[in-house]
Parts: sequence; structure tokens; C-alpha cells
Amino acid sequence: MRAAVTTKPGVLEVASVDAPAGPGPNEVLLRPELVGVCGSDLHLFHGHLPVTPRRGDSLYPVIQGHEVCAVVEELGSGTASSGLAVGDRVAVWPLSSCGACYPCGVGRGSVCDAFELIGVHTNGGLAEQLVVAADHVFGIGDLAATLGAFVEPMAVAVHAIQRGRVEAGEPVVVLGGGPIGQASLLAAKAKGARVCLSEPVAARRERALALGADEVADPADGDLLDRARTFGGRGVAVVVDTTGAPAGLRSAIEMVASAGRVVVVGISGDEASIPLGPFTDKEFDVLGSSCHDRRDVEAAIEVVRAAGAVLEAQLGPEYPLDRAADAFELAGAHPESAMKVFVRVTG
Ligand SMILES: [Zn+2]
Ligand SMILES: [Zn+2]
Repeated sequence: MRAAVTTKPGVLEVASVDAPAGPGPNEVLLRPELVGVCGSDLHLFHGHLPVTPRRGDSLYPVIQGHEVCAVVEELGSGTASSGLAVGDRVAVWPLSSCGACYPCGVGRGSVCDAFELIGVHTNGGLAEQLVVAADHVFGIGDLAATLGAFVEPMAVAVHAIQRGRVEAGEPVVVLGGGPIGQASLLAAKAKGARVCLSEPVAARRERALALGADEVADPADGDLLDRARTFGGRGVAVVVDTTGAPAGLRSAIEMVASAGRVVVVGISGDEASIPLGPFTDKEFDVLGSSCHDRRDVEAAIEVVRAAGAVLEAQLGPEYPLDRAADAFELAGAHPESAMKVFVRVTG
């Protein structure tokens, strides 16, 4: 089968590789159609992803791609009760957890000590065939492939909004208008929240308005704190920081209401210097958020479905598998130009 293989950091080769053995018990064989390129893909591609290999002593070579929309090609034994049928279009939940560690024991498998991601620890969707556990595959009916491939990033946002315990009517400020920021906006709106999105790039503020933001703000204006407080009314209940930048966390702590919640979902290797006074003055919660669990994926499918054509209009462009390297290049060099770049693997 054809696949885009990251052979070592910085090198992506489209080549013929051995197809996976057919589906084993409780597995399904998928034909990936469309795969989204994620910021974490670029980190892995460049050798900067802070994860340890689970199999062998290197993450490479690996077939990347964890934002996968696919079609079911073959069902393994024991999958009759999965509700899946050959030909179904599906989204893939790429995370597996061990079930034995402390976070797994308290129902928080998204931060399992031994978690594995398809497309990071094991081969992913940038290939004509992919075998996945049947319970990690979710039928999406007639949803467009672009929307199907956006289920995984939407699940990241749904998880962040769930971590923040966002409720209907609450004012939420989202910092950052990249894909997870825009997805967080949609996930918070789906909960009935009011949302203001802060983002320095004008095109991304326009995108947020198109996706239903109640307000947008430019943090470069200098009055972001005033804007957020005015938007918040009695107080900004929740701030979702998707920036991964120390300045983002600092303004989140500044603008959040006393007794509010700050959710940190931007992946970052930076260190932040922040004032400690507000922690006791304001008694807010700071909540980290990582990946997603099964319920987040189920909820994300509904958020994506409800957003429908409005979201679809913001997604793309697509590159064929042969040009996967160009897709990575565009996503890395001009992240503001496209909310989500896809690789069209088949179909
Ligand atoms: Zn991702
Ligand atoms: Zn675990």
C-alpha cells in the first residue's frame, strides 16, 4: 500500500510499504480517506514532540496522522455488536489507555501514564490501510469527510470545555484562534455559553465570527482585560487558553473571575512567570486539559454535525497523499492561512 512515512525527523517519504495484516479479533480494517494535519504532527515531524516511544526505542519510522476520517473495509471477528458495517464512514478515536495506572483508575484515561496515540506511537492514517480496535471507531453517517477528519481536534476542544465545567449562559473567553481555539468556541457555544475569542490575526477573528463567536478581541489592542471584563458582566466564568504562550496564561489569570476556571489546553514547552497573588485572592481553578476520552469523541461528532456547512466552509485545503510533505509545509509555515490542512489519502 502507499503511505507517507516519517522515516526520521524532518523526512517524509511517500512509498510502498507492507499493508497491515487483516483485522484481528475485535479490530476493523479501515481505508483512510482524509487526514488532518495537526500542530502535534509538525512537532513529531521535526523531532520535537515530548513523548516517549512505547514500542522500541525510537518513534521513527512512523506513519503519522491521528485526525482520521475513513471507510470500513473489513470487520474482524467479534465485532458484530459494534454496529459497524463495511462501507461505513467513520471517525477514529486515536488514544488508547492502559486501564491500570492511577489516572486510568480515577477515570482519566486521557492522561494515562502509558497512553498510546495512533499516528504517534503506532502507525496512523497517512496510509491506504489502517487497522484499529473496533471500539475506537465511530460511525458518522453521512457527515462530509472534512468534518469527519475534524472530529478528533473537536474532541480535544470538547474535553477542554468539559474540564472547565462550562454551563449554559456562562461567559467564556477563548484565547487563541487556531484550530483548537475555534473548536473550543464551537464546543462552548454547543453548551449554550457566550463566547469571546481573542486572537491577534484579523482573518482568524473573522473566522471566529463566522463560526458564531459573540465577540472577538485583538489582544494587541491593549485593552483586552477591559474588553473581557465588559464581556463577562458579573465576571468571566471560564478562560480557555489555547495559545501555549506564557502571556496567554498570564492574561487568563488576570481576566478570570474570582471563583472562575482557567483551562490550559495549548501544548507548550515554555516556562511562564506568573503572579501568585491571584491564586489566593481569587480562588480560581486552573485545569490542564489533554486529548480526549470516548465520550468527548461522541460529543464532538454531534458538535461537528451541528456546525455543519458553516464549519466545513472554514476547513481545507486538501493535498493528495503524494504531496503530504507540502501539506505539512503549509501547515507549519502559514498556520494562520488555513484552519485545517488535509491530506486526501484515498477516494
Ligand atoms: Zn491533533
Ligand atoms: Zn493508564
